[in-house]
Amino acid sequence: MKDQKDRLEALRADIERRNPAQPEFHQAVREVLETLAPVFAARPEYADPAVALVERLTEPERQILFRVPWQDDRGRVHVNRGYRVEFNSALGPYKGGLRFHPSVDIGVVKFLGFEQIFKNALTGLGIGGGKGGSDFDPHGKSDAEVMRFCQSFMTELHRHIGEHTDVPAGDIGVGGREIGYLFGQYRRITNRWEAGVLTGKGQGWGGSAIRPQATGYGSVLFAAEMLAVRGEALDGLSAVVSGSGNVALYTIEKLQRLGANPLTCSDSEGYVVDDKGIDLALLKQIKEVERGRVSEYAARRGSSARFVSGGRVWDVPADVAFPSATQNELEARDARALVAGGVKAVSEGANMPTTPEAVRILQEAGVAFGPGKAANAGGVAVSALEMAQNAGRVAWSEQRVEDELAGIMRSIHTVAHETAERYGAPGDYVVGANIAGFERVADAMLAQGVI
Ligand code: GLU
Repeated sequence: MKDQKDRLEALRADIERRNPAQPEFHQAVREVLETLAPVFAARPEYADPAVALVERLTEPERQILFRVPWQDDRGRVHVNRGYRVEFNSALGPYKGGLRFHPSVDIGVVKFLGFEQIFKNALTGLGIGGGKGGSDFDPHGKSDAEVMRFCQSFMTELHRHIGEHTDVPAGDIGVGGREIGYLFGQYRRITNRWEAGVLTGKGQGWGGSAIRPQATGYGSVLFAAEMLAVRGEALDGLSAVVSGSGNVALYTIEKLQRLGANPLTCSDSEGYVVDDKGIDLALLKQIKEVERGRVSEYAARRGSSARFVSGGRVWDVPADVAFPSATQNELEARDARALVAGGVKAVSEGANMPTTPEAVRILQEAGVAFGPGKAANAGGVAVSALEMAQNAGRVAWSEQRVEDELAGIMRSIHTVAHETAERYGAPGDYVVGANIAGFERVADAMLAQGVI
C-alpha cells in the first residue's frame, strides 16, 4: 500500500508538471488518485508502471482548440475560443456537455472531461468521456447573437463529432436554445438528420422526455438513497439548494414532490432565502422565461423571501444540501456552517462544487456525501437514453424515462456503496464512486490493448 501511495504521488507530481496552470484539472485528478491506492494494492495489473494505465487515463485522447469569430447586433466582430476535449472512448463515443462561460479554459474543460469519464462509466450505459465549450458569455446577449455564436462554433465543431464519435450536450450556459442553434447548423453543414449527434434537443425534434429535469431529479434521488441507508427519508426535511440554472430548478421541483422544503436558490450576485419554501412557478418564470436574476424573485415574492447580496446559501441551516451551481462553491467554512446547522446529507448536483477540505469536514462529521460523479449522473444518463431513442427512431413516454432514471440512480448508489464497503471505506461514496468508475474504464482499456 505504501508503494502504491508513492507511485500515485509521483504520478500526480508528473501530471501537474506536464499540465501547468490547470488547477481544476489537477484538483480533479488528485481527488481520484487519492482514492485509488486500495484498488491498486488489490489489483496490481492496474498499477503496473510497464502498462502505464494511469498515465494513459489522465492524458486526453484528443484536444481540439479553435477560433470562434462572430458578429454582434451592431456589426462588431468578436473572437472567442472553442474547446472540445475527447478524453476517453474505451466504453463508448465521447459524451459530455458544452459549457459557455467566461471562466472556461483548457484546464476547466479537462477537469470536466476527466470527471465525465468516471461518471459516464457509473451509468453503465456505454458512453465515453468528453467535454467542451467556450469562454463566450451568453448573459446579456440577444437571441440573434447567441445564434450567430452557436453557428460559428458548430462550423468548426461539426467535423469532430458524430453519433458514433462524440456526442455533446448542454452544461452551464448551454440549454435548449443553444442546442437548437447548434443542431440546426450541424444539419445544414452535413445535410444529415443525425439526431444522435447532440442530446438535450427539444422534445418535438428528437429530444427525450425528462432530459431537462434529469440532473436535478437524479441528484435528489441519490440523496434519498443515501438517507434510506440511514433509515431516513426526504419527506418533511428542509433543504438548501445553490444555483438557479437547470440543475437547481429541477432539484427544487423533485424535493417538493418528495415532501421536502427547499428554502434557497442563488446566482453570482447572491442568494434568496424563502421561509415559506421556494415558489417554483415564480422562479421558473424569472429564470426560464425572462432569463432574469434571483434578486427579482425576492422583490416579487413578498415578505417570506429576502435576497442576501453576495452571501452564500450554506449559512442557512437545513437538513440536506444540494450544491448545484459550479465548481468549488462550497468551501471549508461553508461545510462547517452546514455541519453546525445540522445537515444530514449533501448531494452534488454541480461538477466538483465541494472543495477537498470541505468534503473532509463533512465526512468527518458523519454527513452522507454524494460526489457529483455519482449524484449528478442522472443528466448524462438520460442523454444516453436520448441516444438510444434516436437510434431506434422512437420516443419513450415520460413515465418510462422517469422509471429508467430512478433505476439508474438506484444502481449507481448501490455500486458506489458496495464498492466502498469492499475496499474498507464503508459509507464513503467518494471512494466507492471513484473506484467503481475506474474499474469499468480500466478493464475496458486493458482489454483493448495499448491505445
Ligand atoms: N453537462 C452534463 C454533465 O455534467 C450532461 C452531459 C451530457 O448530457 O452529455 O454530466
